[in-house]
Amino acid sequence: MTWYYLIGSQPTGPVEETEIDRLFGDGTITLGTRVWRQGLQSWKTLAEAFNRPAINCFRCKRLCSPDLSVRYGSLSLCEDCKEVFFQQIREGLSPETTGVYGGFWIRAGAYMIDQIALFLVRLPFELALRAYVFWQMFGSASATTPQPFWQSRGVLIAYGLYFIFVLLLHLGYSVFFVGRYGATPGKMALKLQIVRSDFSKVSYPRALGRYFAEGLSGLLLYIGYIMAGFDSEKRALHDYICDTRVIKRLSKIKP
Ligand SMILES: [Zn+2]
Repeated sequence: MTWYYLIGSQPTGPVEETEIDRLFGDGTITLGTRVWRQGLQSWKTLAEAFNRPAINCFRCKRLCSPDLSVRYGSLSLCEDCKEVFFQQIREGLSPETTGVYGGFWIRAGAYMIDQIALFLVRLPFELALRAYVFWQMFGSASATTPQPFWQSRGVLIAYGLYFIFVLLLHLGYSVFFVGRYGATPGKMALKLQIVRSDFSKVSYPRALGRYFAEGLSGLLLYIGYIMAGFDSEKRALHDYICDTRVIKRLSKIKP
């Protein structure tokens, strides 16, 4: 007897029953994967179709084998969820806690606000730098022709200092606000919060790591940021790297 199975919404097959066993063994398909063979009215979960015992994970709602699940009171948890679940209990968070994740557009909005805020802080320094460079090039009375800027030691030092200032400003802004408040001012303005995957606070070292990981996300046409638009938990690349999530608020898992 041959079977078809769904990967995403894509029917795959036909395959023999032994192949179904093999795919289940290597994790390609799970108890919750929809399967179908000729004669069945509709697609069924692998658990239903093959009469395998299965429980619903309290946290992610997926079907999993009772042998691999753990129980906590009346709740069952799959292998993937148990670690986060017990971590939440240790941190004093309610185990029913989950997040309402902030999507791509609201995060893009927060990013713009942060960029504008940083621009406004940079602006007086940038104007001062430009005024200084102008004065160095044209200001001295003896110069009938302007001096090229790369020949002025003062100008090169001023550019160097400004460059270091901008780097430290951006890094400090991000690490300070995220480490202390769990959100940059842009995120605060839009009521977004950065948390760990178990919804606990982000530490300063993690905020620092996340700052550099964001640099990666900005490479290649912001593709690391755009990922957030397609992820079930709205994770950007830097959220994947740093095990963080951006949430609008916490909510309760409905049992
Ligand atoms: Zn689960």
